[in-house]
Amino acid sequence: MRSRSTDAVARGTPSRDFFAELGVRPIINAAGTYTKFGGMLTHPEVVAAIAAASDRYARLEDVHLAVGARIAALLECEAALVTSGSAGALTLGTAACLTGEDPERIQRLPDLAGLKSEVVIQRAHRFLYDHAVRACGVRLVEVDTHDELERAITAQTAMLLFLNKAAPSGRIPAAEFVAIGKRRGVPTLNDAAADVPPVDNLFTYTRMGFDLVVFSGGKGLGGPQSAGLLLGRRDLIAAARLNTAPYSDTLGRGLKVSKEEVIGMMVAVERYLRRDHDADWQTWEAAVSVLRSALEPLPNVQAERFIPAIANQVPHLRVRWRADPGEPMASVATKLRDGDPSIEVVPAPSEEGTLEIASWTLRPGEAEIVARRLREILARRGTGVPR
Ligand SMILES: *Cc1c(COP(=O)(O)O)cnc(C)c1O
Repeated sequence: MRSRSTDAVARGTPSRDFFAELGVRPIINAAGTYTKFGGMLTHPEVVAAIAAASDRYARLEDVHLAVGARIAALLECEAALVTSGSAGALTLGTAACLTGEDPERIQRLPDLAGLKSEVVIQRAHRFLYDHAVRACGVRLVEVDTHDELERAITAQTAMLLFLNKAAPSGRIPAAEFVAIGKRRGVPTLNDAAADVPPVDNLFTYTRMGFDLVVFSGGKGLGGPQSAGLLLGRRDLIAAARLNTAPYSDTLGRGLKVSKEEVIGMMVAVERYLRRDHDADWQTWEAAVSVLRSALEPLPNVQAERFIPAIANQVPHLRVRWRADPGEPMASVATKLRDGDPSIEVVPAPSEEGTLEIASWTLRPGEAEIVARRLREILARRGTGVPR
């Protein structure tokens, strides 16, 4: 006997609720474009492009070359490659600096015998995703100052790595970093994964002279969640492409991007460039206002709008106790997660003892729900909650 849901499965009805079927609880993502919370929703225009591109076969190499050329023209850079996210772009960018277009070197990676083996990075720029660079077998050499960077560059140096969002905490500014790379003949890579908006950033860093620049497709761009962009010098982009699928004997073969995702990423870039960014901004401001005005009447709670100086540069809300702290904000976050609907907020707030809420991953109507839940939890403070 066939159950009704089996019939629905067989028909592939659009109303099929995968999350309910799987017993996976959907969440309200008030945290931001974190991969673990689903990143940014893929824009419907991108989903439609993926569906349309699914219907025909094409040579993946042809798709990569044509889309790369289109994206490079749109973003006014020499060349572009659609990658498996920013992490994939970091690996392929590094691989490109190590191998160039030499087939023997490409096949040999991550065996670096006879190749350069070091990447130099400012100590303040070390980050979790530099693992994607180290995946090529290179050693990271840490420096603090301009002079140390000059001294660290040797015949072994394959690349200079810059983390855009760490620019304010490092001692060597981006333009100076690029100039050193140029003068010493070492390629520079800037990871700007989460740094759109503003839209200008898609142009700024290639124009500044970075040889390679990385952006995530599934963050501000609203592209396929597992896609990204590697932009930059024609020879390095060609080398990066040769280090991944469809070429099987490569380090990056596991970083495959399908023709659907490559085309979806192109459409995401097109869409983003013609988007009304002011209207987006107003939507995010409105969400923050809803939250702030719901919390303001609570006498012990301070709710402050802020915009990160760099990376995820959109309106957020920071919530803290004014004085006489109630339950720790970490336990407030747990209650939001355990409640119904389940709500995720910024997992590691920039300031201890605060809760941070991102506006741009909220779907219509969700700011109101988050505001209501937060009010309920914060107004109940002191009622038997262990500190
Ligand atoms: C998010 C992020 C990444 C990883 O991006 P994916 O597109 O998920 O691979 C890499 N670097 C930085 C700085 C990031 O913020």
